[in-house]
Amino acid sequence: VTVDSRAVVLREFGASPRVERFAVPDPDEGALLVAVELGGVCGTDAHLIEGRLPMPTPVVLGHEGVGRVARLGPGLERDALGRSLAEGDLVAWASSIPCGRCDACVHLREPTLCGSREVYGINRRADRWPHLSGSWADRIYLHPGTTLARLPDGIGPAEVIALGCAGPTVVHGLRVAPVRLGDTVVVQGAGPVGMAAAMLARLAGAGQVILVGGPAQRLAVARELDLAGAYVDIFETTDPADRVESVRALTTRGRGADQVFECTGVPSAVAEGIGMCRPAGTLLVLGQYTDAGPTPINPHLITRKQLRVLGSWAFSGTDHLDYLAAVPRLRERFDLGRLVATYPLAEVGRALADARAGRVPKAALRAGERS
Ligand SMILES: [Zn+2]
Ligand SMILES: [Zn+2]
Repeated sequence: VTVDSRAVVLREFGASPRVERFAVPDPDEGALLVAVELGGVCGTDAHLIEGRLPMPTPVVLGHEGVGRVARLGPGLERDALGRSLAEGDLVAWASSIPCGRCDACVHLREPTLCGSREVYGINRRADRWPHLSGSWADRIYLHPGTTLARLPDGIGPAEVIALGCAGPTVVHGLRVAPVRLGDTVVVQGAGPVGMAAAMLARLAGAGQVILVGGPAQRLAVARELDLAGAYVDIFETTDPADRVESVRALTTRGRGADQVFECTGVPSAVAEGIGMCRPAGTLLVLGQYTDAGPTPINPHLITRKQLRVLGSWAFSGTDHLDYLAAVPRLRERFDLGRLVATYPLAEVGRALADARAGRVPKAALRAGERS
């Protein structure tokens, strides 16, 4: 019996991705097939479709996914945490596999900086075997070397997909710039990365979280989930200097934040973040995933305030495991399911439009035979 799988394919930049069908391969040794339950839609997907990031075509889209083990290849018996795997288990996986041989992998020991990472839904070509290389599909083929883990008990696909790749991205950021107990943390940006940063900063022991962002509908969701103790609406307070003052006024003795997490993708936010830091504070530049060009900053402030300005790029398999382990505690504090709106695979165009317009906090495609 030949089984096939639907998959959303991007063939040409700027064109709408379309549902196509591919034969479902048998998994090789150490690989597996997963029946996708949810494939997250991320801001990066819109950038990929527009051709703003270097990648080959055609590709099956979808770098965030949760599904059930459909078939295990020979020799694959356990997940990355050593727990047994069986058909039907709910699993999630890290989107990238580093090469393990380059300078970044071997000497720097920074796998996210590997220049040869193979990333599901981004740079694995759909015109080559096994074709099913993204999560916007009924089935995805996961290669040996994928960091794969069963979901924590009692956790469902929507709760894992709620923060999407923003969750493990922030886990990686916290590795670079750890939050200390009682810290005052400013999060710039109320998109998925900002929301994940606010949640994980609180989980990590921040004493106070101040969320600086907009528009109003995003802040309304953030308030509903109780992500922060205070909010600064950038559409109400439009002058950056006023925003810096508003933030400082909320901090101990007006000195500024211990940590500022830039999660906006807007270059000018970095200068604002520098202003929001306390002396000897830390600015983590986490949100600049596309190259939007240079921006004026006053480097005197970095010296004068003795700041630490740090960067963080993407996430590793380990970060993804740590994120999954944190989901049950996140769910205790925040209504993760509230963030997710699901769409049948065939309605990928509507999902992308709603995500782009900010009509839903998190869009996800619902795969499976009947959707
Ligand atoms: Zn993403
Ligand atoms: Zn490498």
